[in-house]
Amino acid sequence: MFSVVNLVKALDLFKEKIDKNKDYLSELDTPIGDGDHGNNMVRGMAAVKESLDSKQPETVQDVFKLTAMALISKVGGASGPLYGTAMLEMAKASASTDQALPILEAGLAGIEKRGNSQPGEKTMLDEWAPAIEALRKGKLTQVDLDAAVEATKDLTATKGRASYVSERSIGHIDPGAMSSKYFFESLIEAGVFNE
Ligand code: ADP
Ligand code: MG
Repeated sequence: MFSVVNLVKALDLFKEKIDKNKDYLSELDTPIGDGDHGNNMVRGMAAVKESLDSKQPETVQDVFKLTAMALISKVGGASGPLYGTAMLEMAKASASTDQALPILEAGLAGIEKRGNSQPGEKTMLDEWAPAIEALRKGKLTQVDLDAAVEATKDLTATKGRASYVSERSIGHIDPGAMSSKYFFESLIEAGVFNE
């Protein structure tokens, strides 16, 4: 389940991973995009940290809401509004439950709606959907996360900037799926899925 403590911890861990892998995320975004995914995410997560540190939210809903606002307002790329919408939908869902699965399902549905996209189109959804499927079956592991991001290599991009290169996107990992892997790893490490 989500608590203020484990969610704030997860977001700190996510920021750490994004900062550490900034260049790698931008490299992944170079052959099939415009090479800015690392920079976009670093800027967004810096804004998230600043907002959470200064406002000290006291509910899970408020943590998600401030995170959403920071990402939507500070990230120029497609990933900002998409992650931001996921966080906003998770804020709404957390008004009536603290269980991780329904909250993350609401986030996934938010990305699909905002992006007009579905799993299989070589986007962040190809990390979110398998991760949530594993949770539905009972357990999400690092192996699930690694396998899902690796599987984006074989997909042809039909949404976002990568769709401009179409079949030439085959063989490349989707950058948003990689950053989403760091998000789910952070949730695991912060103990969100512990009994
Ligand atoms: P931009 O594409 O504007 O440069 P980023 O580079 O920050 O933005 O983010 C690119 C990532 O956004 C892609 O790797 C993909 O995972 C995700 N993405 C782009 N369009 C969509 C969409 N319609 N639905 C879901 N995810 C998308
Ligand atoms: Mg980009």
